[in-house]
Amino acid sequence: MTAGTGSGLLERRVSVRRSLYEESLFQFRQAADAMALSPAVLRVLGNTANEITVRFPVEMDDGRVEVFTGYRVQHNGALGPFKGGLRFHPAVDLDEVRALAVWMTWKSAIVGIPFGGAKGGIELDPSRYSRRELERITRRFTYALNGNIGPEYDIPAPDVNTNSQVMAWILDTYLAMCPPLERNRNLHVVTGKPLEAGGSVGRDKATGQGLVYCIQRWMRDHATSVRGATFMVQGYGNVGSWSARLLQDLGARLVAVEDAGGAVAAECIDANALLSHVRARGSVAGYESVSSITHDEFMTTRADIFVPAALETQITEETAPLLQVELVAEGANGPTTPEGDRILQERGIDVIPDILCNAGGVIVSYFEWLQNKRSEAWELDEVDGKLHGKIVGAYDRVEEARRQYGVDARTGALIVALKKLEAVYEQRGIFP
Ligand code: NAD
Repeated sequence: MTAGTGSGLLERRVSVRRSLYEESLFQFRQAADAMALSPAVLRVLGNTANEITVRFPVEMDDGRVEVFTGYRVQHNGALGPFKGGLRFHPAVDLDEVRALAVWMTWKSAIVGIPFGGAKGGIELDPSRYSRRELERITRRFTYALNGNIGPEYDIPAPDVNTNSQVMAWILDTYLAMCPPLERNRNLHVVTGKPLEAGGSVGRDKATGQGLVYCIQRWMRDHATSVRGATFMVQGYGNVGSWSARLLQDLGARLVAVEDAGGAVAAECIDANALLSHVRARGSVAGYESVSSITHDEFMTTRADIFVPAALETQITEETAPLLQVELVAEGANGPTTPEGDRILQERGIDVIPDILCNAGGVIVSYFEWLQNKRSEAWELDEVDGKLHGKIVGAYDRVEEARRQYGVDARTGALIVALKKLEAVYEQRGIFP
């Protein structure tokens, strides 16, 4: 393949605070250097394929009209249809969605599923809107995206502040736009659907379950066990609360939790009772029989495992020195900055990187997609067993790359992904 020069964004700018997308490219560039990635593939993967921005009006309950901005970024489709979540958050912008799309490309490649990487979102604070308004916003966004999503082209899934209900609205809107004879062939346009609408058993807990399988593998490699370990969780939504409940079921002890509303700590927090409180009150704040703590107190909590499961950029140059844990198991996407990574390494704190650790969600999304295509409904044992096989297989490949190249786990995981993508580009070539 012909060599080329890297894009300007790939240059390292250590002194300047990078944007999230630049951070994702910085990680990519480090791995590309370590494995001597072909310059042509470096150039292709250092760019996104398609970036869609839509602005669309929606009528509010009181008759006012608001105009919303939504995004869908498709990073790379060499391995299969674009795949990635959809986020509702006031901080959503093109840069964030680009970074999240890049990470999706690596994730599917690492775990060996035939998807490319994409991500989307709407810039909005969902707590300001009624359920009926959120439904209209979701449906109008789906309509605005029109042919840019599709079951064999680009398949959204839940992410921050979106859930199976949002997926059901997208599905229904998409099917309504299809000719009648094609409707039942398009159920797999979204994953993470409610069971009755074509979802898969095990999808709800899949990201947490995959994370727990990775932690168990790490524990086995370190001749220890989850039973008796202590852990802290940031974010108590889908990923955080499932991770906490599954770890608790294996005999680990939850000692601190932080979400957008506050942070709490105790000798032993009941993960199930805490979830009931969060469902009723919207936050961990105010939960009985725990102490309220500050963000800094949360970050300095002594525990064996830290599961960041909220937003990006939480483990930074400022916060990485505070952590008193052995292992960071990244449930969130992009929780650790490159500076944070460096400090964790210096301090001997291991990281199971996001692009491996939280891949359980996209793995079971793939199973849901397959079930829809085949008109099948698998049992939970089958879903969990296959998820275990895929994520543990990926964990072992990452460990092997880490040893072979003498790199950290994140770079090792990226090398696994880049090797696969490089091979595909070498086999297929660049059209024309
Ligand atoms: P969610 O909306 O269900 O939960 C988000 C949680 O983060 C909430 O508890 C919220 O209070 C908390 N939070 C938000 N801002 C915070 C802040 N500033 N400080 C502390 N907590 C804060 O979202 P989710 O689906 O659980 O996603 C969480 C993370 O996991 C995201 O990074 C997402 O991209 C990633 N992820 C999700 C999935 C999935 O299947 N849902 C899959 C892979 C990765």
